[in-house]
Order: sequence, then C-alpha cells, then structure tokens
Amino acid sequence: TIAMAVIDKMGHIAVGTSTNGATFKIPGRVGDGPITGSSAYADDEIGACGATGDGDIMMRFLPCYQVVESMRLGMEPKLAAKDAISRIARKFPDFVGAVFAINKNGVHAGACHGWTFQYSVRSPDMDDVEVFTVLP
Ligand code: ASP
Repeated sequence: TIAMAVIDKMGHIAVGTSTNGATFKIPGRVGDGPITGSSAYADDEIGACGATGDGDIMMRFLPCYQVVESMRLGMEPKLAAKDAISRIARKFPDFVGAVFAINKNGVHAGACHGWTFQYSVRSPDMDDVEVFTVLP
C-alpha cells in the first residue's frame, strides 16, 4: 500500500491510497483502501493521515479519521499517530500496521505496531526526499 498526503502552497490538503490489497489477494475482497477514514483521511483545517497494514482489522477503527480528529483536539501528530495505533493494538495485539500523520503546518510523524515502518517526506525547502524510520 502506498498512501500519500500533499499540502499545496495554498494550504489545501489531499490524501490518497493505492493498494494491491492484502497478501494473497482475495478475489472480491474490499479492503480498507476505499473506506474513508481507514487508510486515508484529510481535512484542510487540520492535516492528514495515511495507513498501511492489516486492513481487515484496521478498518474497524478508522485510524486515519481518529488521527485527524485527535489533531483537531490539539494532539501533536506523533501522539495522535501513537494513540490511533495503540487503540487497535489493545484489542488486536498481533495486528501489523502503521500510520503517518501530518498537520497543516507540515509537522509529521509515524507510529507502527508489529513491524518497522518507513515513510518519506519532501518539501520545497528540502533538496531531496528524506526517509523516516519508525520503530514499533
Ligand atoms: N491495508 C492493505 C489491505 O489490507 C494492505 C497494505 O497496507 O499493504 O488491503
């Protein structure tokens, strides 16, 4: 799964997800990708979130909606991301997944469970893409 959030120079925020689906793709399966708030969510006033991992579990929690709403209430992206992942892990300790969060000011973070997660960032003031590694 590739999820991407973009903030344009006007401050508009968009997010999207493209996925091959779960391992051993199951014909007819609808994963978390097309479910708003599960693998992607954005609000111009707040920020955005993208997710990857075990969609059949993650879709029950709408983790990206959770992250954006937590940021709306004042949480920093790091705490909002960790909170969304821990809400899932409390109920499904074996789940594997991750989210990235970015607020409208460009502050970003990731959180993961069951694997090491990497996400990359590029902004106009950077010479190249920077890869961030998030440990569980
Ligand atoms: N979330 C995707 C799915 O369950 C898989 C992935 O993120 O790699 O379809």
